[in-house]
Amino acid sequence: MKAPTMMKALRKLAAGDRELVLADVPAPHARPGWVVLDVGYAGICGTDLHIVHDQFPSWPPVTLGHEFTGTIRELGDGVEGWAAGDRVVCEPHSLACATCHLCRRGLAHLCAQKRSPGWGIDGGFAEQVSVPAHLLHAVPEDVDDLAAGLAEPLAIVVTAFERMPVQPGSTVLVLGPGPIGILTALTATAAGAGRVVLVGRPSSAARLELAAKLGIEVWNSTRCDVAEAAYECTRGRGVDQVVETSGTAGAVAQGLGSLRRQGRMCVLGVSGEPQIPVPWALAMNRAVDVAFSLSSSWSSWDAALALLARGAADPRPLATVFALSDWEQAFAATRSREVVKALLRPTPPPPDPRNPQR
Ligand SMILES: [Zn+2]
Ligand SMILES: [Zn+2]
Repeated sequence: MKAPTMMKALRKLAAGDRELVLADVPAPHARPGWVVLDVGYAGICGTDLHIVHDQFPSWPPVTLGHEFTGTIRELGDGVEGWAAGDRVVCEPHSLACATCHLCRRGLAHLCAQKRSPGWGIDGGFAEQVSVPAHLLHAVPEDVDDLAAGLAEPLAIVVTAFERMPVQPGSTVLVLGPGPIGILTALTATAAGAGRVVLVGRPSSAARLELAAKLGIEVWNSTRCDVAEAAYECTRGRGVDQVVETSGTAGAVAQGLGSLRRQGRMCVLGVSGEPQIPVPWALAMNRAVDVAFSLSSSWSSWDAALALLARGAADPRPLATVFALSDWEQAFAATRSREVVKALLRPTPPPPDPRNPQR
């Protein structure tokens, strides 16, 4: 038997560990129905920080990384419709059971059995990753690898708008200027909103500045009373829709305070707390609709790729790319919010002397 090819993978080795390890592991082989990808880019997200600190369930030893794009390297037996060299992204809903009431409703992304790459099975912070072929989506020719590397957060946003569609010409307030907030503002605009405002705190000044450069109207939440400003700019009516991406009690109150009667709020922000105070009487008085959105639906992926292909939402300005070997800097920059979105590049191209930026 020949020795397995080894590759680098960024792993959590055991529950209780607070450190990741860049380890040498055997490269995967494609089992029946699965494919092996050469990973192009893999995004670091807040969930990865939670996984490191055991604040999100994981099955170590496991390679992290649930947001990635890659090129098919090897096909397992029985895989049809795909070929080596195809550029793809992958829904992270591996090991969903296909038989529970949620899977049968077409909601495999909410299946209790699912074990995603990056926490349930080995993920994309590695040179190669093995995934089920039925979760792949083809990357359109007009979408480059970097944009495709950001398809997952965009699919998360599209899923939120499946829960709470944008009405043509409506006023949409987005709370929280992280990558999801900025992508939400871009998507709301692409979906036909009349006015979109992104709200953030001065601690996120760099992110607000970037959003403004992308043409998004931004409000600094310490410079104004957000609810008051929302009422003022809508001639006392209140905004039609709010998307909450920050997970903080203050933002939830601002959102409900900004809505018109029978306005709608969609919640994407994950709170670190099991309970947060909500201005319940105000929500009742406004007769608001609130929808919570979790994970990404099957239909959101091709929709996200279509938005990328049209250039309707271009996430590339959000990205800072690090070599896999520089993962510590990438995680530190994510934690400190120095960057909007860090992506790891497991197989960097040869260095270009004219451009030291990776
Ligand atoms: Zn994520
Ligand atoms: Zn299921």
